[in-house]
Amino acid sequence: MSKTTFTRKTLGLETVEPAVTPAPPAAAEKAFARKPKMPGAKSRKKDIPEGLWNKCPKCANMIYDRELDENLKVCQKCGFHFPIGARERIHSLVETCSFEEMDAGMTSVDILQFTGVASYTSKLRSYQESTGQKDAVITGIGTMGRHRLALGVMDFSFLGGSMGSVVGEKLTRLIEKATEKELPLIIVSTSGGARMYEGMFSLMQMAKTSGALAYHAKARLPYVSVLTHPTTAGVMASYASLGDLIVAEPGAMIGFAGPRVIKDTTQAELPPGFQTAEFLLDHGLIDAIVSRKEMKEKLMTYLDFMTENRRGAA
Ligand SMILES: [Zn+2]
Repeated sequence: MSKTTFTRKTLGLETVEPAVTPAPPAAAEKAFARKPKMPGAKSRKKDIPEGLWNKCPKCANMIYDRELDENLKVCQKCGFHFPIGARERIHSLVETCSFEEMDAGMTSVDILQFTGVASYTSKLRSYQESTGQKDAVITGIGTMGRHRLALGVMDFSFLGGSMGSVVGEKLTRLIEKATEKELPLIIVSTSGGARMYEGMFSLMQMAKTSGALAYHAKARLPYVSVLTHPTTAGVMASYASLGDLIVAEPGAMIGFAGPRVIKDTTQAELPPGFQTAEFLLDHGLIDAIVSRKEMKEKLMTYLDFMTENRRGAA
């Protein structure tokens, strides 16, 4: 492709460009602060016709859509991790055709009859239409190398990956199934936190998932928590931080409250790199940073190690 075409396309994209960059850390924080509008795949899908260029927000490299898809949505130049959908991620982790989805049709009920800018029911409907998913997590049993495992993958494009009663219930059923079938468990998280449209019902999911994980741990079964950009608030404060092993993707924003809230509360300057995966690795909250392209291989190695005794005993 000639240089001139390249430049023209770049200029043509300027007006829609911010929409293709992943949600900045501030967006996750806004989600937690109950802002009704979430930046997500919905607006992205609407604004950008298919087959165009994406600009890497880190190195400004222009990447063709298809090239980005083939590279698991990772910039080939600088390794920046773009957001990836739950189904694509499952595809990148388990063996082809091995994944049996659980509770695929489970949907939330607007128990509080919540209405903000729009009613919760209409929000759910529009996100279901735009994402093709019923809620913000996909769960099931699949095979990764020689391991049969329970896998849950969250999707930020569905209402900011917020944890409502469906996310909590699907994950709890997955964890209970893993305990029953004596399977290792992997949950890939990305979330702005609890789903405020469901009030207390969403907060209850923290205890429910944590309780199920306690039984899974008691059965001496391994759980690897994978944190991706961003994993915050109620999800980070429950199952996402309870892994026997906690790994994160490079550059992921991970935390409870957003940096602005913490800064206002503590009245102190935050250290550089605060709430990034790299900062948290240095401070011992997470065990490893694994790039998306190496994730499957690394997870298999971890599971080999963590299930060695079990296999020896069998
Ligand atoms: Zn880049």
